Amino acid sequence: MQVRLEQVTKTFAGSKNTQATAVKELDVTIASGKLVGLLGPSGCGKSTTLFMIAGIHDVSEGHIYFGDHDVTALPSDKRGVGIVFQNYALYPHLTVWDNIAFPLLNAKEMKKRLKQRFAELSPPMANFKAYIQRLVEEAAKLVELTAYLDRKPAELSGGQQQRVAIARAIVKNPSILLLDEPLSNLDARLRVQTRDEIKRIQKQTGITTVFVTHDQDEALSICDEVIILKDGVLQQQGPPQEVYDHPANQFVAEFLGSPQINLVGGSIKANKLYLGNEEWFALPESLSDQPVNIGVRYENIRPDRENRKQAFEATVTSIARTGGTSTVQVRLADGQPMRLHRDSDDVLQEGDRVRLYARPRTVYIFNAE
Ligand code: ADP
Repeated sequence: MQVRLEQVTKTFAGSKNTQATAVKELDVTIASGKLVGLLGPSGCGKSTTLFMIAGIHDVSEGHIYFGDHDVTALPSDKRGVGIVFQNYALYPHLTVWDNIAFPLLNAKEMKKRLKQRFAELSPPMANFKAYIQRLVEEAAKLVELTAYLDRKPAELSGGQQQRVAIARAIVKNPSILLLDEPLSNLDARLRVQTRDEIKRIQKQTGITTVFVTHDQDEALSICDEVIILKDGVLQQQGPPQEVYDHPANQFVAEFLGSPQINLVGGSIKANKLYLGNEEWFALPESLSDQPVNIGVRYENIRPDRENRKQAFEATVTSIARTGGTSTVQVRLADGQPMRLHRDSDDVLQEGDRVRLYARPRTVYIFNAE
């Protein structure tokens, strides 16, 4: 199911008659069957956006469509969405089986739809209870919890509890799955494991999934597309690699990638780019004279071994070796620092003067604010 937000704005009434705009005129389309990450720093409007798609929050302005259907005014239980919250929200006194079955047995709207699906089963099943049993077992199998159906949540690891929450969302056969920071309560190792699980489950079911995270690494590693927000405003949408390689602005360039990108001051004069005060290279397109910020990722800077005209001089100030790679810090002629990645067995030494190089298409130019 495709999800489309058209000029969606959300304002919350604050204290003393103030209003805070959490999401501003958001226009995005989430393609059917994709895993899409809503990404940005804390407070940028990710959860608010997710809750508007879910129907938990009303929109203040704009429209939300599921396929061609305008769902803006539709209550949450009629939207056919499954939601997973960061704290799992499991019932502690119920077993895994009961937790997964809960929405099937306790929501009026869901039961109505289930009875209809049951009546239309082919081949038919004799017994509605057996049908519920089958759905719970299928969901448990999908998240690999078949052996744990009799346990209580407290007898499971955090990752397993989160998988129960995912099974409970999926058992309803939702057309859209919404995940709100589903990994943030897990430790680092489980986080990686569970995010790969989410990817597998999403691919296996093909359910259009929106995944909220503030962790760019998480989003880049599993999402088909990312939507990046800042202060409730869309910054960029696209496949992770494309957004990483072609950031729309300085915010996106700095937000994506670990470690952070190098940003150094420079300028454009007569269509040439200056790194600090040093002429670097001629720009392929015409840009007006102005001070700029220049962004280059660590991995895109390398020592120049071919005496390129476009290389620039720097002095190595420190080398930090971590496992297979080193982070080398250098100082440009005008004193600005820059960092690059090298293999740990590289021969560079502190105090060395080096000539460095980056391909022009890996050099991003932003307005200096
Ligand atoms: P994120 O999920 O990106 O961390 P949120 O969507 O939770 O951000 O919040 C976006 C902005 O809206 C924040 O400034 C937050 O304080 C505000 N906000 C969120 N929910 C409410 C609410 N129920 N009432 C008032 N303000 C809210």
